[in-house]
Amino acid sequence: MKDTHVYKTALEEMLKNITEELKTIGIHNPNNPSDWIAVPEDLDTEEPDLNLAADSVEEWNERTAIVATLETRYNGIQSALARIETGTFGICEVCKNEIEEKRLAVSPTARTCMVHLEEENSLS
Ligand SMILES: [Zn+2]
Repeated sequence: MKDTHVYKTALEEMLKNITEELKTIGIHNPNNPSDWIAVPEDLDTEEPDLNLAADSVEEWNERTAIVATLETRYNGIQSALARIETGTFGICEVCKNEIEEKRLAVSPTARTCMVHLEEENSLS
């Protein structure tokens, strides 16, 4: 049985940091804990300024993209923590062998061993 304590601590720290980051630009979807919704910076611009509107569309797109990236990481951390609970943490999802310690040390959310690195993105 793998000693997951050190990974659990690291993952919880990562989760805490990413949650704080997400909260600055989005809100947690109350109906779906794996979903975050980007929120506009501020909606107090009353003036119908076209340039401002264009800026905020750009800003909005940027925020949505950042939230999507962070959300993927957030969910990766959550599922790694779930794997610790179920005892499947550190097992390659492709070959079912143990994931190398050095890979987990760098990336505790890893779902594959180093041999199957490239297949990780195609896992559901
Ligand atoms: Zn593998």
